[in-house]
Amino acid sequence: MVATGGSRIGVLALQGDFAEHLAALRSIGIEGEEVRKVSQLEGLDGLIIPGGESTAITKLMDAYSFRAALPRAVADGLAVWGTCAGMIVMARSLTDPYPKPLGLLDIKVSRNWFGRQVDSFESDFKFKGIRGKPIRAVFIRAPVVEEIGDGVEELAVLPDGHAVAVRSGRLMATAFHPELTDDRRVHRYFADLAAAKDGKTRD
Ligand code: GLN
Repeated sequence: MVATGGSRIGVLALQGDFAEHLAALRSIGIEGEEVRKVSQLEGLDGLIIPGGESTAITKLMDAYSFRAALPRAVADGLAVWGTCAGMIVMARSLTDPYPKPLGLLDIKVSRNWFGRQVDSFESDFKFKGIRGKPIRAVFIRAPVVEEIGDGVEELAVLPDGHAVAVRSGRLMATAFHPELTDDRRVHRYFADLAAAKDGKTRD
């Protein structure tokens, strides 16, 4: 992967923990851009869809015309990383009847998979492509990946086999929240992905 220098990364700032992602990016020297309008996708190399409430995020994305615009931007090479609710938004389908996901990434996702008893917890994971100690994963009413399409790679997997981090070309999704820890390796991983312009999703 190439260096991150000069790449422009936006954070969808309609709802959820976008401020934490912007702070995480800042701590690795990237001035992320708040994205609230489709026109702000122009010229970006990467976009982060944060955690929050996927029903609210998809409603707002519909209201602000992202449902049509984002797949076009992805086809033009925009890298996208969804965390938690962002993973739900990116999915091809859900086990729940709603919300209606955008279908950017060929995965089927179960919302709130860990159940109400265990609303949030932390665990350490090996993350494919990231060296060194395991990644501390913070799960908050988190989803898991139930089914995975051709060409989608598992980056981190639960002991029972469910994927909690996946990637397909320039698209990635994590069920957990790297922005809520001090470890910046997943943000660096995405910044490298966004900077590597020749690795489009459609290759
Ligand atoms: N449970 C939330 C949803 O279904 C996601 C939670 C999160 O993003 N931390 O949208």
